[in-house]
Amino acid sequence: MTHQAAIALGQTLRVLAVDSDESAAQVTPDVVLGSHTDIDALRRAAAGAQVLTFDHEHVPTELLEKLQAEGVNVAPPPQALIHAQDKLVMRRRLEALGAPVPRFAAVDDVDDLDDFARRVDAPLVLKTIRGGYDGRGVILTTDLPEAREAARRYLADGVPVLVEERVAMRRELTALVARSPFGQGAAWPVVETVQRDGICVEVLAPAPGLPDEVGAAAQELALRLAGELGVVGLLAVELFETAEGGLMVNELAMRPHNSGHWTMNGAVTSQFEQHLRAVLDYPLGDTSAIAPVTVMANVLGAPQTPAMSMDERLHHLFGRIPDARVHLYGKQERPGRKLGHVNVVGSDLAVVRERAGRAAHWLAHAQWTDGWDGHAD
Ligand code: ADP
Repeated sequence: MTHQAAIALGQTLRVLAVDSDESAAQVTPDVVLGSHTDIDALRRAAAGAQVLTFDHEHVPTELLEKLQAEGVNVAPPPQALIHAQDKLVMRRRLEALGAPVPRFAAVDDVDDLDDFARRVDAPLVLKTIRGGYDGRGVILTTDLPEAREAARRYLADGVPVLVEERVAMRRELTALVARSPFGQGAAWPVVETVQRDGICVEVLAPAPGLPDEVGAAAQELALRLAGELGVVGLLAVELFETAEGGLMVNELAMRPHNSGHWTMNGAVTSQFEQHLRAVLDYPLGDTSAIAPVTVMANVLGAPQTPAMSMDERLHHLFGRIPDARVHLYGKQERPGRKLGHVNVVGSDLAVVRERAGRAAHWLAHAQWTDGWDGHAD
């Protein structure tokens, strides 16, 4: 998706991929095969490039610092990226910057949990400090013994964890912004992200019913954090809207983010183009929504891959929902895997949401959620 945006800007992307069938490698002729944990592969990918950037956060900081020292323009720089890689570093920095975060503590020993539980008087969440993704590495526990047991297992495996209070929330929001090295910032409307089992299934843009001042506060917070942390490119600030209507920061991501896929069809400038503009230090694009409502629904692999081919599923989908904007990632179907997403743009939230959800479910399952049969008449 970043490459699509690069084409329009007359830029070319070289991709570092482990396999030639990875999504990003499928759409560019310039692929360096190798691991993002191998400095030589990273050097080959960066050679002669104007800028090195990311579609995930797992490149080790030490390697990026080495590249930087060798003169590579790394964006976002590793000094910023660390806050999207290490949840403990992030929590400590945000707390120091006065950003609202759940109460948290490092866990060096299982007994640390007892002290923390006494202090917060709330259910506990255990998180691996590094390597989490789509809810993997997050355990929402119901009582202290369960939290202790989970921590014991992680620590026995040598996996560093932190504990935090389980936040009583209304819903989850994301404030997505971009920042250029020049210092320009741009914020899209704040969205609601609907999660199931730790995975984002749907994004509603803008977040329905969000008071203007709360939306503006979330945008300002995200822009301020982007500046304080020295982000270059995109910054997604994942937020909890608390039961009382306040905001708390859950996580940071510094790359095009699932919560921003709606911008491909629902905003003047997509997150992918904006990320490129930011890392290339171009003036940033207009982030306005082009319609009252956009809903993005993820196409999540069905428990059983349908017998009907994806090609045929697309035929049916476009026959029934011609305004569905489909973005597939070229991935093999697997249960629960993010295979793509569908955007629907419109003016009535209930209608748009139903169309997007129905389209995404159809693409994954080859079943209409309302039992419709395209061959019936
Ligand atoms: P990942 O790094 O895997 O994306 P997150 O930290 O975003 O993990 O957590 C995944 C999901 O777990 C969140 O979207 C949220 O639904 C839930 N969650 C995480 N932390 C808390 C918390 N402190 N209180 C309540 N729910 C939480």
